[in-house]
Amino acid sequence: MFDSTTRTMVVVGAQWGDEGKGKLVDVLAERADWVVRYQGGANAGHTVHIGDRSFVLHQVPSGIMHPGVRCAIGNGVVLDPETLFIEIDKLVADGIDVEGRLYVSERAHLVMPYHKLLDKASAASKVIGTTGRGIGMAYEDKVARRGVRVLDLRYPTRLRELVAAGVERANAQLERGGAAERASVETTMQVLEALTPRLMAIAEDVGLCVHRAIKSGAAVLLEGAQGSLLDIDHGTYPFVTSSNTTVGGAATGVGISPMSIQSALGVVKAYTTRVGNGPLPTELDEPLHTEVRTLGNEYGATTGRPRRCGWFDGVVVRYAARVNGLTGLAVTKLDVLDTLPQLAICTGYRVNGELYTEFPADLQMLEQAVPVYEWFDGWRQPTQDARRLADLPSAARAYLDRIEALCETPISYVSVGTRRDQIIGVDARA
Ligand code: GDP
Repeated sequence: MFDSTTRTMVVVGAQWGDEGKGKLVDVLAERADWVVRYQGGANAGHTVHIGDRSFVLHQVPSGIMHPGVRCAIGNGVVLDPETLFIEIDKLVADGIDVEGRLYVSERAHLVMPYHKLLDKASAASKVIGTTGRGIGMAYEDKVARRGVRVLDLRYPTRLRELVAAGVERANAQLERGGAAERASVETTMQVLEALTPRLMAIAEDVGLCVHRAIKSGAAVLLEGAQGSLLDIDHGTYPFVTSSNTTVGGAATGVGISPMSIQSALGVVKAYTTRVGNGPLPTELDEPLHTEVRTLGNEYGATTGRPRRCGWFDGVVVRYAARVNGLTGLAVTKLDVLDTLPQLAICTGYRVNGELYTEFPADLQMLEQAVPVYEWFDGWRQPTQDARRLADLPSAARAYLDRIEALCETPISYVSVGTRRDQIIGVDARA
């Protein structure tokens, strides 16, 4: 919550993504002056429900739904200009005023058409389960110091050189992989030239803008994508995304000092999900797995892929709380568990008979990990109308109390439905 002492806040996923960050950002943006995305790209898929309309935002920060809030895409994001403008045009067609409120960092790297071709053709994308949107390929080029940044669009000759080198590399790779498609310099240049005027009109030194906003006392919300366990350094490597999703990435991905961040809200589901391969120690068995997936409508907002579901993993969230320095938790989708007779929370893992309560870096250990569970009675009544903690059944409160204690982080919000108003705020604690 923004107040006189908390003016800069990060909202970060504290599991494997899809925790409901879009809804929390939407709720918090009401009091924000700026909402800024700091990493990821068009692979993010934040869903915001307003009344009976729903909006899926891929690159545009969720704050755009609030008139008057300024939104920015930071340097840490890899920007797909083609889909950005499709997204903007759709928002405008839906009556959302975007003009003069959305900026992109001139330092942000561009996802090029050839990155997308490569991603779709790549075998790795199938193993890691990438979204095929060229995000990882764009980050690879960024780290290899051969990427194309927004500001490069100002210099057509230099741009053509960068594109020609990129297309050549991509085509060699496509040929080696036996793919039928090829990238073309001319087509790539045509795509970029058509987008350049619109893109340059919103290109800014976002770090400077946000710095000035912070100095002037503005409320600034930094919006994370994916989740902490997908962080390139701190996640379940190599089953991770290509950027630093955790709070450290917020400072570098916007271009502000880490010292200016005052709070970090970790968004967690009341259970656990993950998309694609990689460890998920608390994964449910059938038929409960399908039941929870159906109850929670656990299908990707971007890809439609079914999500894997598990019990709440306290080891994971405690780890995320530590790495991010979480100052509060937002527990979402509590209502999804309303009908279950019994629930479990994982408090540790047993590996070769030994108990571990800290999340290991070693994937081999995670694969062998046998979760240690505490069992809870289900509340078996609807929670969607609760607006204060006191409205929740006592069994639901006991479940939340255990999450709070185990993760050593106070719960600031509990979300009990998709709608904006279906939320319990910390102010309503008493
Ligand atoms: P994000 O990427 O973290 O923003 O998460 P997504 O938008 O991909 O997934 C969250 C999904 O859960 C969206 O469809 C939300 O509308 C929905 N959601 C968020 N909070 C709640 C909640 O408390 N209850 C229910 N039933 N759905 C929720």
